[in-house]
Amino acid sequence: MSRSESYHCDVCGKLKSDTEIWWMAWIDCFKGDKPEEDQPLFKLTRWSSAQAHSDDVKHLCGARCSETLIDRWISDQRENPEAHCEP
Ligand SMILES: [Zn+2]
Repeated sequence: MSRSESYHCDVCGKLKSDTEIWWMAWIDCFKGDKPEEDQPLFKLTRWSSAQAHSDDVKHLCGARCSETLIDRWISDQRENPEAHCEP
């Protein structure tokens, strides 16, 4: 089964070309010793076509859109500084 290889930036909507190096981000969980010490963790890595299919991955066309996504996430964290990991 072949999958579609077309991706759009989750921030600006740009369509990825085969030659561009893009970035991928996830919200993961930084595990504390107790469940109440868990907190959300922002992960960023370079493009990998094997990983780009994963659920929950954000596709980012460059540094500017990566920064925008991090800014949004930081704002969410500021608004809710006691937030724990999503189940
Ligand atoms: Zn973008």
